[in-house]
Amino acid sequence: MTDAYCDFHTHTLSGKCPELLSTPVATTARYQSLEYHPWYLPEAFAPLPEDMTTALPGFTALGEIGLDRLRGPELPVQMRYLEALLALAQDCRKPVVLHVVKALPELFSVLKRFRLRWMIHGFRGTPETLDAIWQRGGVVSFHPEAVRQCRLMDKLKTPGGSFGFESDAAVDADLPSVIKSAVARSGNRDLPQLVNAAFGEFTSGQ
Ligand SMILES: [Zn+2]
Repeated sequence: MTDAYCDFHTHTLSGKCPELLSTPVATTARYQSLEYHPWYLPEAFAPLPEDMTTALPGFTALGEIGLDRLRGPELPVQMRYLEALLALAQDCRKPVVLHVVKALPELFSVLKRFRLRWMIHGFRGTPETLDAIWQRGGVVSFHPEAVRQCRLMDKLKTPGGSFGFESDAAVDADLPSVIKSAVARSGNRDLPQLVNAAFGEFTSGQ
């Protein structure tokens, strides 16, 4: 078993493993996603900055983008931005990294209108929500705390879709031990290989 587990979403490069860096500006990282975080959107909708449109082709993915009912501008404003961003990702054939807080039905209804590869990051919801995401073809990147939820880890014994793990904003995140706990709690010894394959697939833009 390798220790080089892929990190599906981080804001700081560790250099220890393949990792998808979420950043608002281009860096030299091998895998980077162009961030337009819902928390920092303007209060009223305005067309996307042109430099985003020109920059996106140089990135692996778009995001994190998304919807957050508890932070950022009013939800209808966030939804307009999300639609514009998903249209851009679809045009450039880029996968998207999604942040969603208390707005999953709204997210699903917007996603229906696009053909995209998408991933929900920081997931620690219920097994039923996990199924709802997988049924729609989404990838799930688990929050490190998710490994403590037994019913959720049970789902990984025979997973119904693609998934991975992430360090997000935690600089001291120990991804190898998170994944070891997930292997122990799910009883799925193929889990590391599944995670690394899902990362390769998501970042390949296929
Ligand atoms: Zn993040």
